[in-house]
Amino acid sequence: MSRKEPIIAIDGPVGAGKSVAARELARALGFAYLNTGAMYRAVALAAREAGVSPDDPNVEERLASILRGIRIKFDGEKILLNGRDVTAKKDEPEIGDLASRFSALGSVRARMRELQRAAGADGGVVMEGRDIGTAIFPDAEFKFFLVADVKTRARRRFEELKKKGGTITEQEVLEQLVERDRRDSGRELAPLKRADDATEIDSTKLSIDAVVAAMKAKINPRINAAKDLKRA
Ligand code: C5P
Repeated sequence: MSRKEPIIAIDGPVGAGKSVAARELARALGFAYLNTGAMYRAVALAAREAGVSPDDPNVEERLASILRGIRIKFDGEKILLNGRDVTAKKDEPEIGDLASRFSALGSVRARMRELQRAAGADGGVVMEGRDIGTAIFPDAEFKFFLVADVKTRARRRFEELKKKGGTITEQEVLEQLVERDRRDSGRELAPLKRADDATEIDSTKLSIDAVVAAMKAKINPRINAAKDLKRA
């Protein structure tokens, strides 16, 4: 491995189980965890607060100074945008939709790529998103692509939002999810797709523990072999 510690990339669509699996895997390995979707959501929040819409004809011009100065920090489950706790706001369905629309812009992707590469440079990180294995760290030591059938994903997302006090119906969640899938997979820049060398895991019928176990089964033998090599 070229880095001191490996990078583990987990990509996939909404509701495939990336966040829970990534967080659990990071905990088990003692690695950092980075949710890149939350970073795009933070951008969407910053843009909304500045009154910038993705449909604005000068959108990238208007976003330039926001992107330049943006500070996104994670503190456990919390996310801080420019020093302010925006954890609850980032889960608003409108923010998910705005994040997906702003994330198609080149300047937004370039700035996120810069921040994400800096955050993962030393390895020892589980990073989840849509393009980690294809665009951010195409040389990641481990790549997983999580999928699940669309109804299961909508149900999971619905349950998650309900727990957080959301009032959206399951049908609405399903419709938004289909639209977001279409946009994320169809965009020109870094579209959602499986890297050729990623291991695909279908989580439709799997528990989170089983997903994490499948990932560990790929990772542990190589990490242990690398450790043995260092010791020898
Ligand atoms: O993962 P989450 O649903 O929070 O991501 C919100 C949106 O951010 C996604 O729908 C996608 O458009 C965008 N995103 C992205 N690349 C990533 C992570 C998220 O384009 N690496």
